[in-house]
Amino acid sequence: MPKMKAVQCVEKQLILSKVAVPDPAPGEARVHVHLAGICNTDLEILKGYAGFTGTLGHEFVGTVDKVNGADPGWVGQRVVGEINIGCHAPDCTWCNKGLARHCPNRQVLGIHSKDGTMAEYLTLPTRNLLSVPDHVSDNNAVLVEPLAAGFEILEQVHLQPTTNVAILGDGKLGLLINRALRTGTSTLTHIGKHREKLDLAAGSGIQTLLLDDLKDEQFDVIVDATGSVTGFETAIRHVKPRGTLVLKTTVSRSGPMDMTPVVVNEITVLGSRCGRFEPALRALSKGLDVTPLIEKCFPLEQAEEAFKLASTPGSLKVLLKMPGSPAD
Ligand SMILES: [Zn+2]
Ligand SMILES: [Zn+2]
Repeated sequence: MPKMKAVQCVEKQLILSKVAVPDPAPGEARVHVHLAGICNTDLEILKGYAGFTGTLGHEFVGTVDKVNGADPGWVGQRVVGEINIGCHAPDCTWCNKGLARHCPNRQVLGIHSKDGTMAEYLTLPTRNLLSVPDHVSDNNAVLVEPLAAGFEILEQVHLQPTTNVAILGDGKLGLLINRALRTGTSTLTHIGKHREKLDLAAGSGIQTLLLDDLKDEQFDVIVDATGSVTGFETAIRHVKPRGTLVLKTTVSRSGPMDMTPVVVNEITVLGSRCGRFEPALRALSKGLDVTPLIEKCFPLEQAEEAFKLASTPGSLKVLLKMPGSPAD
């Protein structure tokens, strides 16, 4: 049986394994992975989140090399793929509404019951795949999943051109949200702790502000992408009465939290996770360039070093390149 290299999580350890090349199940395609992205979720999984064992990773771009019982037209296409695999049972209300990402019986690529993207090959149902236009580079396409998480906000909150929006947090997620939101609003303030990161957030119509310089400004919509426990409290102080606070990070916290301002100011608190790929891919296709947010790309064999860099505070996006990948 042919073997391939894969970066796996086994008992909270990162290991470089040799595993069998997967065969696509009925309805699935097999994808030769070019690039995979390291996400904070992968770092959390290595600390025990989701109790996952297997091949890590949910961000990828690759080329379909085989299908099983699906449209053979996919073979040879460069693709990205939605990470939630719904059950698609005839009576599943979530899958039937096109909301496989909320299906209670879903698998999630590299996170729950499905081997992920940090391997030479992965398998995914063809219904999850989106074809990447030729003029979108691999380096941009590999970031479509976290970028889609930014576009999800635009689907959840209706922004008027005059809506005063702020993003709190200048890490990779905050900066990708910045790229998504600047397509939907013209009054954006990006607040963070690092001048050099805020320089990446700057752009026409975008104000950048160091957290220390934040006084009593208030915003209609504030997105908490800090990944820190204090982000929520800061956000709540700076959202206008009747405004919306969008929570983008899943930091677990302990201890009491004062929710009084939420009630008194009638604030809408909105949870926001991952989004549909299509709007993000469309924006990339129209020329959105997210490659300035890439820190470094490592060969798969140097995964340990890559993960070390990815977990360094302040690092931008770290990528893994598979052996034989055409990506440059
Ligand atoms: Zn991710
Ligand atoms: Zn379902």
